[in-house]
Amino acid sequence: MTARRPLIAGNWKMNGLRADGLKLVEGLIAHLREGDQPFDMLVCPPMTLVADVAAASTASTLLVGGQDCHQNEKGAHTGDTSAWMLKDVGATHVIVGHSERRADHAESSEVVKAKAGAAHAAGLTAIICIGETEDERDRGEALAVVSGQLLDSLPDGATPDNTVIAYEPVWAIGTGKTATPDDVAEMHGEIRKKAHEKLGSEANRLRILYGGSVKPANAEELLALTDVDGALVGGASLKVEDFWAIAKAA
Ligand code: PEP
Repeated sequence: MTARRPLIAGNWKMNGLRADGLKLVEGLIAHLREGDQPFDMLVCPPMTLVADVAAASTASTLLVGGQDCHQNEKGAHTGDTSAWMLKDVGATHVIVGHSERRADHAESSEVVKAKAGAAHAAGLTAIICIGETEDERDRGEALAVVSGQLLDSLPDGATPDNTVIAYEPVWAIGTGKTATPDDVAEMHGEIRKKAHEKLGSEANRLRILYGGSVKPANAEELLALTDVDGALVGGASLKVEDFWAIAKAA
């Protein structure tokens, strides 16, 4: 079996003023300095904090990413940020296609694919989020929806080195509900199988994260599953000790 180093990624969403963000990062860096860890740790602060958090993390192994990027390099796109701008201030990763962006900004998989392609062109790793809604799961469509999103959102040129997939069932995000280990295992296995259609045997190196109400109490069970290569964590990434406890479960 291919060894994949777990990635523990925190999505701060629209939370954190400067002082909060820097304090959180200081706490994580202090933990990372306790010794070599068997996982990579990434934080994705709001756009206003990416530069400061990246600057505070330069002498540590903490990775920093954005929560979204525009598909173009520059131009008349008021309020947007390009992948090149994120790279310029020290980001190494960017989340694209989070379900909150797909829902709030009507982002289709076609747009997500263009954003991931822009991230690659700028030299960032794209974390592409996919996941079904509760209605889709209830109708028995979860596997088909997620497979379709995966194939439609992966740009040409995607490799396990520039791309991470995050499976996040929409109904599990911020709700306290998590998919059962059996459902997560089935979905992650299916995602890897589908990824072979685009990446060939390289799909065995692709990191597939689980996201959706991951907490210290359920992290160990979820992260132990065969095709779960880390977690994308929202709420619990805002507390140093919770996020660290999740990472230690990897
Ligand atoms: C997320 O925002 O990607 C997420 C998984 O949130 P939470 O952990 O709060 O469910």
